[in-house]
Amino acid sequence: MAATFSLLSGSASAQTKICVDPGHGGTDPGAVGGTQQEATNVLDTGLRLRNFLNADTADTAGGGSWNVIMTRTTDASVSLSGRASFANTNGAARFMSIHNNAATSTAATGIETFSTSSTGTSADLRNKVQEEAVAVWPLANRGGKTANYSVLVNTSMPAELHEMGFISNSGDRTYLGSATQRDIHARSEMHALQRHYGFAKYNPGTAAVVVTQDNTGANFTLGSTAWFPGTSVPGYVGANYHARATQAVSDPATWTVSLPSGGTYRVDAWWTTATNRSATAPYQVTHTGGTTTVNRNQQVSGGSWQSLGNFSFNAGANTVRLSCWTTVGFYVVADAVRFTKL
Ligand SMILES: [Zn+2]
Repeated sequence: MAATFSLLSGSASAQTKICVDPGHGGTDPGAVGGTQQEATNVLDTGLRLRNFLNADTADTAGGGSWNVIMTRTTDASVSLSGRASFANTNGAARFMSIHNNAATSTAATGIETFSTSSTGTSADLRNKVQEEAVAVWPLANRGGKTANYSVLVNTSMPAELHEMGFISNSGDRTYLGSATQRDIHARSEMHALQRHYGFAKYNPGTAAVVVTQDNTGANFTLGSTAWFPGTSVPGYVGANYHARATQAVSDPATWTVSLPSGGTYRVDAWWTTATNRSATAPYQVTHTGGTTTVNRNQQVSGGSWQSLGNFSFNAGANTVRLSCWTTVGFYVVADAVRFTKL
């Protein structure tokens, strides 16, 4: 029983629980400057941060895996003690509070981030939030600071409180009041959290999609037994390549590639080079616009990826064929194809 419980615990802890705390709300608008309210700015920013973290979780190619909870997702009143107890009760691993600053002097400007101590885990998160924020908004860097704010003192997990900028300053307000800029800022907080947990900064949805198909398995088929496996010329992908004498018949080698998403891809082919190869090996790429034949000289450029061009494809199965129907007296070589999303 202990082993089973341990496995379940391990599975549940694979996601890191993050409590995002947009300050103020409801009966408390927070600081006000120009036509802007702090409560509105920070709620929008917090929701964008949550969406970025959820996207990061869904994209397993990079970044981290998060379980995001929020002290508020609407214009609701939540007490300071209620925010801390919400994070504590739900067992959050980190607490990230978002605010807009204000000062009597309208000249006060810039970005600062607080924790209760200048050392330790809270300070590390604080410093990374500050670093990433000043990297994306060109406002004054007021640095990482310490303060005994209620939500920092009463949360039982490492916590930071970020002041995005001064709502009392007209220059800062051009950033705080811009949805585009708040989106950029929210992404910077995701980057800070990724770095805090030892991941490289990563933007979800940007991983390179590269799909390679060798001349093996169910996704590589040959029209007839006139195709034969070869290993005599080195520099092939995998265990071997297939070759066939050129002839005026329809007897292609076909690679079927399963693409995870539609879009524009560069298609590359790989062959091995010898003087008996066809100088006009006819590759046939089937894409959303039809089938395009691309002739390649296999007497040169073997042992490396050679582009057949850029084409648009739908998600799912797509094919590249190598025909043997070209100038007779040579061989065409089918080794591997590769699709790289552009
Ligand atoms: Zn505030």
